[in-house]
Formats: sequence, structure tokens, C-alpha cells
Amino acid sequence: MIFEQLFEPESSTYTYLLACEETRQAVLIDPVQSEIERYIQRLKQLHLTLVYTLETHVHADHITGAGILRERLGSKSVLHRNADVQCGDLLLGDDCLLRIGQLEIETRYTPGHTNACMSYVWENKVFTGDALLIGGCGRTDFQEGDAGRLYDSIHQKLFTLPDDIQVFPGHDYHGNTSSTIGHERQYNPRLGHQQTREGFIELMNNLKLPYPAKIKEALPANQECGHQTSVQ
Ligand code: FE
Repeated sequence: MIFEQLFEPESSTYTYLLACEETRQAVLIDPVQSEIERYIQRLKQLHLTLVYTLETHVHADHITGAGILRERLGSKSVLHRNADVQCGDLLLGDDCLLRIGQLEIETRYTPGHTNACMSYVWENKVFTGDALLIGGCGRTDFQEGDAGRLYDSIHQKLFTLPDDIQVFPGHDYHGNTSSTIGHERQYNPRLGHQQTREGFIELMNNLKLPYPAKIKEALPANQECGHQTSVQ
């Protein structure tokens, strides 16, 4: 199996390339529009065909590359069905299984950061988007965010995975690349140390974070698979 973690520094976004060595079919999780040439070059180098782009959610801080990759490479865009993205090709729910060559990717609906967040489980890895971050979690103050819902998603859908499952988040702002479920369940400053649901809600409702710099252009563009601003 082929697995690479790619980083986009402006929004500190991680994109993941997963591929089947036998069929040479590949998926990209959370591709960023400004990095498309790099993805295409890498796919060519590895002789891979991009089958799907998987979004963990509709992003507020960067523009997705899903639409342009579909045009250039014929890939299909996959999102949660609550995302309200009409241009999506495959709108999935909880507990779906995507088969790409010999890869099997399971979907887990993990709302709370937004109402359409999806985590993807593949072998010993879980791609958590902005639901669970390394030593943190996604904010819950816009895009139908809900701190109580995020607590439930993380506890019911992510912390129920085995301790040694590797956590690969949608972002990291401190240079960390991965963690494990066991480590986050125990030590995550917002959710570990037996944090209660009430304590978590209180903490999340008092973060007072500034809005992401690109939210005004990113959200409408991402409802169109990234197309609105692709001509800039
Ligand atoms: Fe996000």
C-alpha cells in the first residue's frame, strides 16, 4: 500500500495520498487547490490513477482541489451527505465502505466541528479531519458547530477505536504529524484527563477565536467543489 502525508503551509493543512499498489488506484483526502500541480506530479511519478477525492468536511480556511482534480483527472468527489455540496459525486453517510483496488476505507460520521464532518478509517489509521486534532480539536463556533455533538462524536466514533490506531488530522499548527487514539484519549488537553461533556462544552464556548482569514471566499467556493475562485 502507498501512503504519503502532504502539507500545505498557508493553512497548515494535511492532505493524504493513499493508493493500492496492485491496481495503481489512488485517493486524496482533503486536497488543497493551490497544491494541485504537486499532486498531479506525484501521482504521475508513482504511476497512479486518482479515483476519489475525499473531503473530511466543507473547509473554512482553504479551497478544495476536488473540482479541478475531477476536471483534469476524472476523479470523483466524496463528502458527507449533509455537506450541502451539489457538485459532490458520492454523498455518503456513516458506516460506508469505499473499496479502491485493495484499499478498504470505512466512513465514520463525526459531526460537531461542522454538521458534515466525516472521519475515514483505513487499516491502522484514522483520518480525523478537524474533529480530533493532535492535542486539540476543531472549533465549534460556526458551520453548525456544536461542542456537545463534537464530544459525543469523538467519544463514540473515535475513542472507541483501538489504542494503537494512528491519528492523522486535517491540520497541525505545531509541526506534529500523527498521534494515536490511546494518547489522545488520555492526554488531549481538551478531551483527555477524563474531561466531562459539560467541562468540554464550557471550554469550547469560551475559546473566542478569530475567524479564519479565508472564510468568506473558502466557504462559498467549497460549496462548488472549489470552482468559484478557480479562475483567479
Ligand atoms: Fe475545518
